[in-house]
Amino acid sequence: MREVLITPIPKEGKDPQLCASYRPIVLLNLDAKLYTKILSRRLEGVLPDLVHPDQSGFIKGRQTHDNLRRVSHLLEKATRHAEMVAIDQVLDWCQRHSEKTTDVFEHTTLYVTVEPCIMCAAALRLLKIPLVIYGCRNDRFGGCGSVLNIATDYLPNTGTPFECIGGYRAEEAVEMLKTFYKQENPNAPKSKARKKD
Ligand SMILES: [Zn+2]
Repeated sequence: MREVLITPIPKEGKDPQLCASYRPIVLLNLDAKLYTKILSRRLEGVLPDLVHPDQSGFIKGRQTHDNLRRVSHLLEKATRHAEMVAIDQVLDWCQRHSEKTTDVFEHTTLYVTVEPCIMCAAALRLLKIPLVIYGCRNDRFGGCGSVLNIATDYLPNTGTPFECIGGYRAEEAVEMLKTFYKQENPNAPKSKARKKD
């Protein structure tokens, strides 16, 4: 039952002196083939419960491109700052409504949970967004007073200074961050929110 017969078949027009010129064909005992088929059929149904969802290969109903898509989403979206995502959405909106982006940004108020970081504050200033309202301070990277003051400092050739109001619904903002860093997404539908063990 455990014996196999391997026959190397030469590939047409290839040098018979080379190993790579042969295609090995394995002849399995029929009982062994039936037995493995029965096993794989039976396992097929329970494998999705036994194997971690991250493994997408060789499991029925899962495909490698599911993981590829997830990685690309993580790289593109999850690491981006909320301000950048919002800016992209405004640009997209302007394109769809044939509006001039400069007009729209100059009449936009940005609401954000945490004080914009230095990089984002500079982007907001360059886009000439006049007013930013945030929840809690960003003591490590804040660009609106906490570390640097990109919003109102004298920075020649760097857009227009903007007004920044902090502390709006600050307690709620802090709670949201705490929940986020506990690896829960407060915006996820109840059924999808991670269950505590
Ligand atoms: Zn940022």
